[in-house]
Amino acid sequence: MLELTHLTKRYGAFTAVADISLEVRAGEFLGLLGPNGAGKTTTMSLIAGLRDPDAGSVKLNGKIVSAREADTRRELGLVPQHIALYPNLSAEQNLTIFGELYGLRGADLRTRINEALAAVQLSERRRDAVKNFSGGMQRRLNLVAALMHRPKLLLCDEPTVGVDPQSRNAIFDHLEKLNREGLTVIYSTHYMEEAARLCSRIGIIDHGKILALGALDELLTLLPFEEEIRFPATAETAKFAEAIKAQGDLGTSESGHRFRAREGFRVSEFFTLVESHGLAPRLFAMQRPSLEALFLHLTGRTLRE
Ligand code: ATP
Repeated sequence: MLELTHLTKRYGAFTAVADISLEVRAGEFLGLLGPNGAGKTTTMSLIAGLRDPDAGSVKLNGKIVSAREADTRRELGLVPQHIALYPNLSAEQNLTIFGELYGLRGADLRTRINEALAAVQLSERRRDAVKNFSGGMQRRLNLVAALMHRPKLLLCDEPTVGVDPQSRNAIFDHLEKLNREGLTVIYSTHYMEEAARLCSRIGIIDHGKILALGALDELLTLLPFEEEIRFPATAETAKFAEAIKAQGDLGTSESGHRFRAREGFRVSEFFTLVESHGLAPRLFAMQRPSLEALFLHLTGRTLRE
């Protein structure tokens, strides 16, 4: 359905999107997972045809997406990172504007507005001005506004930032339902839990590049170890860190030490050594294979750093 080929976007000398190539099949729920500044918003805006790439192309159903061509853009919906609603107008008036923009009128328009408001539990607030909505309610409305013209592809750019858990769940439930009904979704986030919960495939993005792409299970097999143990890098653990080096691979970053055992070195032996250094076991965190561990492995950083 969507094909990105060597997609590149620069801002002056800075490359925000660096040679991204990927294909999205109809019905997929693709995640773009990466930290702030990774290039997610720029990638989304290129897919949406809000700006043109410096190199490479975006093809939607075989047609090149371009900022000069509004036609292909009608086939997709964009939920922007920042709320794009008229604050002084009511929920209903906002959806009317979005609907009319796409040529909806009369009974059709009213039906879609009713459906949209019901889908995100805002029917009872339909006549209230959007500026009086909570952040989460605004996000929910922002989502259904992008769906008024029933696009086949929905781009969601970090749609849950600053959202309360109830609204977050309402957004997830609605997106999952629409995806089950056939909507293709591309969803950018810096929350690993969201990518793991929602996405059928996840692209890990950093510095404008896709570092890995696949289903969660496939991605986790990229980790070269089964388990990782983390512990703080302090004066208290310094001697132990020196001793454990011989038993595997010890890495150190701002967030502390992380240890991967050499083959054959058992967890029990590790903790015997911990005890002999007089250290408390609670200092040590076992790391199961996770998206977080993978991100660290690929980039040398945690997503929260
Ligand atoms: P965030 O979640 O913070 O929006 P992101 O992953 O969406 O992050 P982008 O917004 O695409 O990342 O930004 C990628 C990089 O490009 C950042 O380093 C950003 O500072 C830079 N950038 C984005 N827009 C512009 C612009 N208009 N001019 C110059 N640099 C820009």
